[in-house]
Amino acid sequence: MQKILQNLLDLQHVDIRLNEVRARLAKFPKKLADSDARIASAKSSVETSKASQLAAVKDRKKYELDVESWKDKVRKYRDQTSQIKTNEAYRALQHEVQNAEAEISKAEDRLLEQMVASEEYDVRIKAAEALLKEVEQVERVQRSTMEADRAAAEKDLAELNAERARAVADIPENLLDHYDRIVRKHNGVALAEVRNEKCGACGMIVRPHVIQEMRRADSDPLFHCETCTRILYFIEPSVSAAPAAAAASQSGASSSTSHES
Ligand SMILES: [Zn+2]
Repeated sequence: MQKILQNLLDLQHVDIRLNEVRARLAKFPKKLADSDARIASAKSSVETSKASQLAAVKDRKKYELDVESWKDKVRKYRDQTSQIKTNEAYRALQHEVQNAEAEISKAEDRLLEQMVASEEYDVRIKAAEALLKEVEQVERVQRSTMEADRAAAEKDLAELNAERARAVADIPENLLDHYDRIVRKHNGVALAEVRNEKCGACGMIVRPHVIQEMRRADSDPLFHCETCTRILYFIEPSVSAAPAAAAASQSGASSSTSHES
């Protein structure tokens, strides 16, 4: 293979690994945001339970006041009984007392409901708090794994960037521009191997005379796939694939040492 083609191929190997590392790094912001979101959701669940509890306490106070105020009214009506002169007025007052007692009963029912609800909220708060603790613990572990992965990826990136600088040193600038243009067009892969007389990237036939030209040791120009425009390279089949030497001599003589006398 031409030296320059080998240089480009080396560069492509580096670039493919660079792309992988960049893709790995690009995933971290979302991973971290997802982790934050899981903690935030567990926190919000605690907050919601606490807010419900607070509302229940407020309602309870209101119903307690309702009970007290209706009881006050009942007391007042009873005090008035001694001053009542007519049966009609007495019945009216009795009606007021009954009404107030019904209101007391309703407020007491609501109060009881709120007390039961409040116990339920206590349970929910405790469960939400336990879950939050668990989520925080899990995320802390995941976070430290993520940070270690990211540090490793950053290190790989630095090494590959250095490797790339070495790889491009042997490539003329105009050829490098040419390579970069194809890379941009083809998502990071500018070279394609010719295999079975086809472009290894897009699968289109490469004409036999092009392959013949490419195989010439002194072949000068770079050849491109006519369809995808990638730079083509050709790897000669290895010589070691020659028929196996028939050197393995089969002696087959099994020496029998057993003597029969
Ligand atoms: Zn192609």
